[in-house]
Amino acid sequence: MFFLFTGCALAQYENPPDSARSAFPWPKGKHCALSLTFDDARFSQVEKGIPLLDRYDIKATFYISPHRTAQRLNVWRQAMETGHEIGNHSMTHPCTGNYSFSSDNALEEYDLEAIARDIDDANNYISETFNIVPKSFAYPCGQKFVGRGENVKSYVPLVAQRFLTGRGWLNEDSNDPWLCDGAQLLAMESDGKSFEQLKRLLDKAAKEGRWLILAGHEMDEQGRQTTHLSSLESLCRYISDPENGIWVENVSTVYEYILAQRGR
Ligand SMILES: [Zn+2]
Repeated sequence: MFFLFTGCALAQYENPPDSARSAFPWPKGKHCALSLTFDDARFSQVEKGIPLLDRYDIKATFYISPHRTAQRLNVWRQAMETGHEIGNHSMTHPCTGNYSFSSDNALEEYDLEAIARDIDDANNYISETFNIVPKSFAYPCGQKFVGRGENVKSYVPLVAQRFLTGRGWLNEDSNDPWLCDGAQLLAMESDGKSFEQLKRLLDKAAKEGRWLILAGHEMDEQGRQTTHLSSLESLCRYISDPENGIWVENVSTVYEYILAQRGR
């Protein structure tokens, strides 16, 4: 007998407790981990979002697009020096050609060599500009393939070879620290959400002892693909309160901690 899933709104379901597995030992008895991440080096990030995060001393991960970073370079350098993580988001942001902005740069037309070159170009840019080797990558549009049909290939292995972490986009749950794969971390959208909606995701992660990664784009009052500053400020206040037991750190720091705990 077949059971057909008519939807995949997994987020509404609780993850069943695994009695064979103990609660993950987050630092200082915290209930869960949270990473805030933002993509594409949108100008509102340096102009509005980072100053807000800095007021609360919260460190985020920014997956940058070199062509925009180059226009606000001093501010981005300063952000990195104050502890924000700079990650790779490829050089030219290839996605499926079904998205009109990517029709001339479609993953369907890429092969593994071409995507590797694009990622390495961005790594070279980051190394030359920020004097670091990035540990984190975010898949543009959350898509992880090149080619089409029978010749489709995953480029996850290329990311795993180059980075400690690879982050997805528009996923439906947080990460299980005991088994998540650093090369395919799940991320849930922070754009367009109220504080109450974000808190619900966080409450679920705290209840289940997991690692929630939020991903957004613009950081502004309103607009498309925008994490609202009012929601973000309420979130910053909430996660800064030690009573709430949330460990907030950038992506590579959390994953390094997870690996160390698994190795024990
Ligand atoms: Zn992007």
